[in-house]
Amino acid sequence: MKILANDGIDPIGKALLEQAGFVVDTETVPQEKLAEALKNYDGITVRSATKVRQELIDACPNIKLIGRGGVGMDNIDVEYARSKGVAVVNTPAASSLSVAELVFSHLFTGVRFLQDANRKMPVEGNTKFNDLKKAYAKGTELRGKTIGIIGFGRIGRETATVALGLGMNVLAYDLYPFEGSLTLNFQGGASVAIPVKTVSLDEVIANSDFISLHTPFADKPILGAEEFAKMKKGVGVVNCSRGGTIDEAALIEALDSGKVAFAGLDVFYNEPTPDAAILQHSKISLTPHIGASTNEAQERIGTELATLIIEHFNK
Ligand code: NAD
Repeated sequence: MKILANDGIDPIGKALLEQAGFVVDTETVPQEKLAEALKNYDGITVRSATKVRQELIDACPNIKLIGRGGVGMDNIDVEYARSKGVAVVNTPAASSLSVAELVFSHLFTGVRFLQDANRKMPVEGNTKFNDLKKAYAKGTELRGKTIGIIGFGRIGRETATVALGLGMNVLAYDLYPFEGSLTLNFQGGASVAIPVKTVSLDEVIANSDFISLHTPFADKPILGAEEFAKMKKGVGVVNCSRGGTIDEAALIEALDSGKVAFAGLDVFYNEPTPDAAILQHSKISLTPHIGASTNEAQERIGTELATLIIEHFNK
């Protein structure tokens, strides 16, 4: 059996597959050459870069499995593949903590102006040190503040758990109401379950000091001008979900007016060529869609994906 890991696979996952007798190629084949190359493979694994659309599935009748390392399957025509008898598997939970921690990287950055300081210090750090010190003098702490979480699935709940561990208050909203508890695990084996109940979207929007988006890709933005208008002045907004869930033009207006104090973006409407107005805004902390890009998450993704592939072909 031959697998093409077109967007790479962690060495642990590759080794597991090879021990089970699979041949695994990890050299990336460009999208336009994939149809030809895939004729020699039984399965393909992708992350978010490679697209597996209907035409590609039709062109490669040998393919029996498509594996997505990660969560979002918007780059795969899942229903079509399944209708043709091609299995589609993913590793939905493996990267949740890494994405949640990136949310806090953006939040800690925003409340201490690091997105601006990191741009200005290399240029003005020698000549205007004290001016910069003054410009960044009014930082804030996260403890005791309220984080609003929109989309309370795997990553939303993981984000809430980290927030509770930091001593923050959590307000969450999901299309499907949740009432239960989140468990915080501490050093030495101690743990504590904290009750959490979702509230309305309006309550989240009006009462949060920070808002973090964790919904799937949406055709219509969840946060646009109307929602920004209802937020607290000085709110921080983070998007590590999918581009398109925030109206980027409305975000820029809200940043310029001071309604939103800062934003942290890992995902963009136009990927991989985000708009210059977003990339160059001094109040936006930027990362290039690296939510799942930690050694730990990639190891979990590779292991889980390899296990799913082995299980599928051994059925
Ligand atoms: P999930 O399916 O576990 O949770 C998504 C939640 O959003 C669900 O509970 C769903 O009911 C809710 N939801 C859907 N539409 C909604 C709406 N309009 N309003 C409110 N709630 C809504 O998914 P997840 O694993 O938590 O992933 C969340 C998002 O993070 C996805 O968009 C995924 O693609 C993205 N993601 C990004 C990265 C990254 O690198 N930045 C990595 C992994 C996942």
